[in-house]
Amino acid sequence: MGNQQSKIREINKVTLVGIFVNLFLSGIKISAGLLGNSSALFADGLHSLSDFSTDIAAYLGARFGDKPPDDYHNYGYGKYESLATLIIALFLGFVALQIFIDGFRTILSILRGDILAIPSWWAFFAALASILLNEGLFRYTLAVGKKINSDSILANAWHHRSDGWTSIGALMGVGGAILLGGQWVMLDPVAAIIVSLLVLKVAVHIFIPAIRELMDFTLHNNELEKIYSTIDRYEEILDYHKLRSRKAGGKIVLEFHIVLDGDLSLKKSHDIADALEKELRELLGKSAIITIHIEPPL
Ligand SMILES: [Zn+2]
Ligand SMILES: [Zn+2]
Repeated sequence: MGNQQSKIREINKVTLVGIFVNLFLSGIKISAGLLGNSSALFADGLHSLSDFSTDIAAYLGARFGDKPPDDYHNYGYGKYESLATLIIALFLGFVALQIFIDGFRTILSILRGDILAIPSWWAFFAALASILLNEGLFRYTLAVGKKINSDSILANAWHHRSDGWTSIGALMGVGGAILLGGQWVMLDPVAAIIVSLLVLKVAVHIFIPAIRELMDFTLHNNELEKIYSTIDRYEEILDYHKLRSRKAGGKIVLEFHIVLDGDLSLKKSHDIADALEKELRELLGKSAIITIHIEPPL
């Protein structure tokens, strides 16, 4: 039986369940936030929407970004995923900032003596539903992750639990505002500000790798060190230069010149470059694009 096949099916299933629960929760919380006068719930709903959109980008990226190269995209489709992720990050960052600023404005107006509408019980129950669903999702995802022994699924499980904690923060804000009333209505925007900071953190976290992939950033130093020491292990390589690296839409692109003894046969020189390329590909991943130029000493 295809063990790998059934593992992939389990991963797809648990990922899709997570995606749908987040879509459902973001719908409930954003509408409860808007209709029930709770900026905390609105911010929490935005958080679920951000989880939903990053999951979708990852899911589509895995399907679409791996599309084989064609006549119009000789280097593949990887940058489409980076671009989609970047747009999501900018959208999230923008809305989170908006909630953050609104939260402070609301608090100031309450301090100035304005009377604000108390959040409705609907917002409270939406937060409660979010806590319970996230906890359920956490336990289900954790069980699947343990069963098929997948680190990314286990990481997803703990993300669901942290989402539950975010909703507990929103619940305390809304609950405190409803039960205590008066100036305590302030608890709701305070919770909204805290949640907006969490969303902002997510936005920065997904923005950085996406921008690195789009703007041809050089590889990290520790990756470069590994490349250098691999090349150094070849005694026949007298020297190397013009080494350039970048990350292009999730793929690693690497090119450099190697100096070989000028009297080596073309076949021998090519064998050396070939062996090195193969070893580097093992290090950098199957999709890496590696170009090695061979030359004699000056
Ligand atoms: Zn989350
Ligand atoms: Zn050269």
